[in-house]
Amino acid sequence: MEHTTALYIVPTPIGNLDDISTRAIEVLNQVNLIACEDTRHSGKLLSHFGVETRKTALHDHNERDRAQWIVSQLEQGLSVALISDAGTPLISDPGYHLVNHVRQAGHRVIPLPGACAAITALSASGLPSDRFSFEGFLPAKEKGRIDKLTELVEDPRTLIFYESPHRIVHSLTSIVTVLGEQRQVVMARELTKTFETFLSGTATEVLKTVQDDPNQQRGEIVLMCHGYRAEQASEISPEAIKTLTILVQELPLKKAAALAAQIHGLKKNALYKYGLAEGL
Ligand code: SAM
Repeated sequence: MEHTTALYIVPTPIGNLDDISTRAIEVLNQVNLIACEDTRHSGKLLSHFGVETRKTALHDHNERDRAQWIVSQLEQGLSVALISDAGTPLISDPGYHLVNHVRQAGHRVIPLPGACAAITALSASGLPSDRFSFEGFLPAKEKGRIDKLTELVEDPRTLIFYESPHRIVHSLTSIVTVLGEQRQVVMARELTKTFETFLSGTATEVLKTVQDDPNQQRGEIVLMCHGYRAEQASEISPEAIKTLTILVQELPLKKAAALAAQIHGLKKNALYKYGLAEGL
């Protein structure tokens, strides 16, 4: 059923091997060729699932040349699957030039749905998921990082970054500096694996937890930031938000906002608007 001449985009697990789909294994078994980011790395995964299909390497350094050759394979009626080391190909992984080239050449590209760290992290983060912006990795150098975050400072969408363990403290520090100490941050680490952890709090709180605990600086990380909220940025403290959240469980929002404003010396309208925006 799956042996159409096409390039198949096949996600692989991001940690837990059970997260591969039945269809993914079927496609990997039936295609003539699997283009892998790293043939040795994927070799282990493929042999775990009993897949013996021929492999070829396709990585950042040979992608353009390889793309031409893969098109020539499709032209001979062969079918090809693309996988990366983990998760969905093309998402902070190679494959964009290949897909573009294959489409330009008039061949089918068939995507399979599957594991992706960004979406997995967002789905359990508790941050707004109606609008989000996937930003890949923040630049390694501080100036680049600051510039990138400055571009995003007033973006109202949830921001999603991939992060490496040895840069996490630097990136969180830049987030505190540019997005502000009070920006809500969620850090998802080691998703689908034994030490899966979610840390959430203000940017300052998450930075402190990560700095104080070297275990939080290990493994694979997705960092997410709440989008920009004008009301909060101007005057609402986390303590006032906590009070409002508690009061609103017992009182109408208007009354809860008025009381929280009185307790914390804030304008009731700002808290009321904040409550409406957050769906309290
Ligand atoms: N294509 C992959 C995907 O669909 O998620 C991402 C590949 S990118 C080169 C690798 C980065 O993804 C890691 O540095 C980390 O930021 C994130 N990542 C991958 N697996 C993860 C996991 N199990 N837990 C948390 N983050 C993960």
